[in-house]
Amino acid sequence: MKKTKIVATLGPSCENKIEEMIKAGVDVFRLNFSHANHTIHKESIKKIRETAKKLDSKTAILQDISGPKIRIGKIDGLLELKRGDKIRLVKKNPRDRYDLTLSYPEIIDDLKVGEYIFFADGSIRTKVIEKTDNYAVLEVKNEGVLSSKKGVNFPHSNINISSITEKDKKDLAFGAKNGVDIVAISFVNSKNDILKAKEILNENNANPWVIAKIETKKAVENLDEILEVSDGVMVARGDLGIEVGLEKVPVIQKKIIRRANKLKKPVITATQMLLSMVNSPFPTRAEVSDVANAVMDGSDAVMLSDETTVGEYPIKAVEMLKKVSVQIQSIYPYYKKYEILDSDAIAASVADLCKGSNPKAIVSFTSSGTTVRSIAKYRPKAPIIAVTHSRETSRKLKLVWGVEKIIEMQKLKTPERLIEKFKEFAIQKSLFQKGDKIIVTMGSIVGKEGTTNMIRVVEI
Ligand code: PGA
Ligand code: MN
Repeated sequence: MKKTKIVATLGPSCENKIEEMIKAGVDVFRLNFSHANHTIHKESIKKIRETAKKLDSKTAILQDISGPKIRIGKIDGLLELKRGDKIRLVKKNPRDRYDLTLSYPEIIDDLKVGEYIFFADGSIRTKVIEKTDNYAVLEVKNEGVLSSKKGVNFPHSNINISSITEKDKKDLAFGAKNGVDIVAISFVNSKNDILKAKEILNENNANPWVIAKIETKKAVENLDEILEVSDGVMVARGDLGIEVGLEKVPVIQKKIIRRANKLKKPVITATQMLLSMVNSPFPTRAEVSDVANAVMDGSDAVMLSDETTVGEYPIKAVEMLKKVSVQIQSIYPYYKKYEILDSDAIAASVADLCKGSNPKAIVSFTSSGTTVRSIAKYRPKAPIIAVTHSRETSRKLKLVWGVEKIIEMQKLKTPERLIEKFKEFAIQKSLFQKGDKIIVTMGSIVGKEGTTNMIRVVEI
């Protein structure tokens, strides 16, 4: 089995292969709300739910909210730029081809002379050399070609637009209504962006996990406060690489993962993991190493984007992630040490017990999934089996490292009856053999959130 989870972005290449994708190892499908419309997303949600049901898999759905990705307006054909050229960002009335409009023109107010602005995935770098109320003049620093709607990054600017746009609000309401399990928020700058998203979800009576995509310089600076209020984070290396410089990404990746692990918040490492597989059935050695490194760093999940949306080998890409993750399991740094907080005392003890007794599995009866996340934090070597009565929890746990099986089971009155029921189920499904030892965690008040207070060593 594999301990690291796989997130795959749904798109034209794989939308008719959902069953194969799940069988190949996909735990979570990402729906990218920068593309497609609500009708299409609704259809995708339906397909994923039906297929998961058929396969008896808890497959989760992650809705990726586009956020204020800033783009230039329309350009006729291509705009070829040379070093030293001057272009202008204008609020309105462009005079010629060198005047560019923006999807959020008000941003011009926040720009300052001396700041750098990047276009087209960072391939064109410019510097602000003049600024008025209505426009900013930029000097081009390197040769490149611009075309319509290319993305713009403002790594040095103090930009005052909300990370939740009007479109995002509608998309959040749509996700809430259609029961997505996890929501990812793009271009988060501070904890307020996450709190705002949670407020909107709350107003729509939904409680998915909210993941902060760390992809701006500001988000890296405000990492601690963002982590505090989010349910998880994504190392969104695409935009992050543009904003901070590619050479800084590995260090930031390790830092984000370390802090997220400590707070037991699921962390996804994303973008260009196996990019060459868009056109090739094999990845490069460097890509395989990168995946292995992300797994070793402590990622709960690794993610595919272009590889599964427009790539020629979506299934092979998923299989490759799985193979690499499984290989790393033989040298994985299990049993992480942390200062033990009261809230983690049970989980820390479970990990200690595992080290000594080598059980077949850790079986955690959980309502909200918190105990399972605590146990996973210590990275025990034994597989974690989550047993829950909550459908929502069972899907969310698809994102958590080490949770190799998730079982939905009715609430029963006493811990004894619950354990008996589980044993019957396990024998029937051949999960274990008679005589196997497992470690069980549960609460004395069954099914009540936050009451896990027992560890038992159980013989099947
Ligand atoms: P995106 O986010 O694919 O939505 O841009 C991930 C990233 O920037 O890495
Ligand atoms: Mn991004």
